Amino acid sequence: MAAGANSTRLVFLGPPGSGKGTQAEILAERLGVPHISTGAMLRDAVGEGSELGKKVEGIMSSGALVDDDTMAAVVEERLAKQDAQHGFILDGYPRTLPQAETLDGILSGASSGLDAVVLIDVPVEELVTRSLARKRADDTEEVIRERQRVYREKTEPLIGHYQSKGLLREVDGHTTIDDVTARILEVLG
Ligand code: AMP
Repeated sequence: MAAGANSTRLVFLGPPGSGKGTQAEILAERLGVPHISTGAMLRDAVGEGSELGKKVEGIMSSGALVDDDTMAAVVEERLAKQDAQHGFILDGYPRTLPQAETLDGILSGASSGLDAVVLIDVPVEELVTRSLARKRADDTEEVIRERQRVYREKTEPLIGHYQSKGLLREVDGHTTIDDVTARILEVLG
């Protein structure tokens, strides 16, 4: 991947219901980089009935994670596209430590590493309420709780991983959409 002079390569991290996807979309628009949501890519694949879609449909509806190898292929192909050469906001990837290592590998070309990882924090008790309010037709409360459990077990360890690399920027997500956007812009300097 070629390194752009003024590229912005960001990862957005946060539990389901934190507003991460909404903020990733707003920031991508502001910064003029693509918003790459692996969840949206997988939902498109399911909608198209592609091989990938057939493989991931059941896994997604249970609240579990798609395997790391499948996700590596999806993300590598997406990041190789022209529009991602001068930056991107990754939303929903990486979600496990092996995925973070895969991403480091994909971005290991000269000066093309991540600029920052934005963590959107929201109190646990608010997350299920928020997720239920915006739930997709096939989401049950049980699946929503399973996604929270999977986040704690598999994704939370990424916080320490990126903290130790000096990339983590924490933002309080327990406020209005505009306010959270302003805080993200602030921590990104
Ligand atoms: P999201 O829209 O980001 O909440 O993703 C919806 C679902 O897609 C997740 O619950 C997972 O089943 C799957 N998914 C999305 N991104 C990933 C990923 N990076 N690793 C594994 N599964 C993923």
